[in-house]
Amino acid sequence: MTTCEPDPTGLEADVCVVGSGATALYGALRSARAGQSVVLVSSRPEFEAAGAGISPLLAPPTLGLLAADGIEDALTEAGQRVLGVDDHGTTTMLSSWRYADHPGIARPYGLTVPTGTTVQALLAALRAEPRATVLTGESVVAVEQDEAGVRLGFERPSGRAGGAPLRRRVTARYAVAADGRQSALRELVGVRLEVSAFDRPAWLLVAPAVPGREPVLLVRHQAPRALFTIPTPGPSIALVWSPDRDQGEQLEQGGPATLAEQLGDVDPELSEWLVAVAGRTSPVMRLGFSLWRAPAWRVGRVLLVGESVHGLHTLGGQGLNQSLQSAASAARAMADALTLGDSGAIDDYERVRRPHVERLQDLQWNLQALGYDTTPPVKGAHEDFIDVMTSLHPELVAQLEGSGVRG
Ligand SMILES: Cc1cc2nc3c(=O)[nH]c(=O)nc-3n(C[C@H](O)[C@H](O)[C@H](O)COP(=O)(O)OP(=O)(O)OC[C@H]3O[C@@H](n4cnc5c(N)ncnc54)[C@H](O)[C@@H]3O)c2cc1C
Repeated sequence: MTTCEPDPTGLEADVCVVGSGATALYGALRSARAGQSVVLVSSRPEFEAAGAGISPLLAPPTLGLLAADGIEDALTEAGQRVLGVDDHGTTTMLSSWRYADHPGIARPYGLTVPTGTTVQALLAALRAEPRATVLTGESVVAVEQDEAGVRLGFERPSGRAGGAPLRRRVTARYAVAADGRQSALRELVGVRLEVSAFDRPAWLLVAPAVPGREPVLLVRHQAPRALFTIPTPGPSIALVWSPDRDQGEQLEQGGPATLAEQLGDVDPELSEWLVAVAGRTSPVMRLGFSLWRAPAWRVGRVLLVGESVHGLHTLGGQGLNQSLQSAASAARAMADALTLGDSGAIDDYERVRRPHVERLQDLQWNLQALGYDTTPPVKGAHEDFIDVMTSLHPELVAQLEGSGVRG
């Protein structure tokens, strides 16, 4: 890796990735491993520290991709295994499955891993790539492009009171906006997100793990109330509770004790456990949910990747998984366009990924567990997501294997 100080004469690379998170780092790593010179520019002065952040579930297909890139040991060491899903309805178990039951699955478990740990594992791998340059503390402020390439302008504060910002220019064949939902690069190329907000919030609490429970993603859906718990490192559990309409305000006032009370007839064992571990849990945190998408995933030579272009509800645990899979697809499309001289290959990214992600969003938008419908559920909340939780979609596999997505 090369470390650079701001330099007005600028840098040149095949690919410039803008972003600070796992999606940006993974996309940059895939491009570097495919033989491209890469500059990753993060607006943050530092990357998230190992162990910091929330712990999303990395599903086996994504773990398989990461493992193929040598990113596994640190995740396994810090992560918590999740063996499958138990979806309970009002009176019966609606769906129960284990990753190990799926033949050919990349790993017989998912892993919940702190985002900072994933970030640091990817950063270490990227830093080991001789053709990768990592810059921090520089914000993208300008972009222009033509048929030959894209020129990005970055600024960082001078560090002196009243001093003019330091400027840098990066010239690349392609640029990637992997800078999240508030993407500055997406704004600069004029793409507006279309946002659909769910009218139902949920409340999150992290508590020590309930002793003796199998480490699975557990749902108790007593419509309209829905409880989701997932094992996280610690060992602990992350609990997401969607109460009835009138219970939310009580939760805001009463915190973990009120939550324990509300769970009394939904999961009595957990309710008692929350009382027993009072003072050892996180506060109750309100979560709002929305889906977002964009009318275009590419503007000329700028590709929009991950949460800069698609956002999912947490149900199904796909936000980070789909972002990392999009990063792999985009890197492959750029590599094919650059090395095969096949400029049409750049369209593979949107062609492969957009219908897939938008289908997941449509499924989520219509899920009973995410609304206030009181009809007793007849289907497990995750049943529509079993495919994405256990395998990569066929179009992505074909693209990554180079077996002709344009058929
Ligand atoms: C409650 C909850 C549960 C979720 N569960 C899942 C799940 O089970 N599975 C799943 O796939 N997705 C899940 N998601 C979504 C997932 O967390 C996001 O999709 C993912 O974190 C986005 O990562 P990114 O790298 O693309 O983020 P970007 O928005 O591109 O970047 C944000 C990144 O900035 C970094 N960062 C944040 N704060 C700092 C800081 N102070 N200093 C330096 N760096 C910082 C972090 O590394 C973070 O990843 C969940 C989200 C929530 C809110």
